[in-house]
Amino acid sequence: ESVSNIIAAGEVVENPAAMIKEFIENSLDAKATSIKIYIKNSGRYVKIVDNGIGMTKNDLFLCIERHATSKISNKDDIFNLSTYGFRGEALASIAAVSKLKISSKIGTEKVGNEISIYGGKIRNSKEVSKNMGTEIEVKDLFYNTPVRLKFLKSKQTEYGKIKDVAFKEALSNYNVSFELHIDEKRVLFTTGNGIENTILELLGKNILKNLKKFKYGYLGNMDILKNSKSYIFTFFNKRYAKSLLVEKAVLEGYYTKLIKGKFPVAIIFYEISPNKIDVNIHPSKKIVKFENEKEVFKDIKTAVEEAIGTNEE
Ligand code: ADP
Ligand code: MG
Repeated sequence: ESVSNIIAAGEVVENPAAMIKEFIENSLDAKATSIKIYIKNSGRYVKIVDNGIGMTKNDLFLCIERHATSKISNKDDIFNLSTYGFRGEALASIAAVSKLKISSKIGTEKVGNEISIYGGKIRNSKEVSKNMGTEIEVKDLFYNTPVRLKFLKSKQTEYGKIKDVAFKEALSNYNVSFELHIDEKRVLFTTGNGIENTILELLGKNILKNLKKFKYGYLGNMDILKNSKSYIFTFFNKRYAKSLLVEKAVLEGYYTKLIKGKFPVAIIFYEISPNKIDVNIHPSKKIVKFENEKEVFKDIKTAVEEAIGTNEE
């Protein structure tokens, strides 16, 4: 396997959770309405099954090549991205550092195809019978990169990061059904029946019934939850990204009305022109930057104040 693929793999797939995020986003790009994820062995084993548009045999051989992407056909596309991935790096990188099997079938073909790649080398390919969509199985992630393997954290930490990724993808893609199984136990399930039902399935009845719709999503005033983890979730153009600026705007918007001992819960969906926000440039970067920070801050703070104000009557 080429050294550059192995080096790139470290950047794209720092850990199992980052790899799973790439897989989920590929499934979403393929218009899947159902995404099932099965994890074992601290995340070194991952199987993800989607019902998206699938790949032809030719696509299968191509998708593991570096910079193979079906998502850019000309230069203009780079500036008009509606899809998640565009670097064409994820699968090639993962293929280089794992034992990978991909099977896929497109709607108009009778049979599907499967390809196995160990450490970047194709081992086997054959026809298989399967439903439309794609199934990817990763075994022994980092088996040939002992240093990277050593950097994996404890099983609980890796599982925590994976749950976090699945949770945020499921929440923002509320019309897609998600399942996450860890060590044979289903730990997350959404039916893909809209935002409110998804909030119910992910956060529970207690949170849903305290939430109020507002200009940019949902707001609520809750008893502090068990763990002091933040309950402000921010999605920009439907993609999760952390923004301290927006979190602060929510807290300030709440400030005068925040009942003692209560804590704001907020699910923010903010739409902004893609050229005014810098997000997801680098795969491991999850923090957003805005062209006009003051404007975004004021916009959100004002909307929260207005929503809380009307709450009182
Ligand atoms: P990118 O998403 O940046 O194009 P990836 O390495 O993540 O690069 O994927 C390479 C290509 O493999 C994609 O462009 C797509 O054509 C194909 N692909 C990957 N995953 C799926 C999937 N779940 N369903 C259909 N096609 C897929
Ligand atoms: Mg991708």
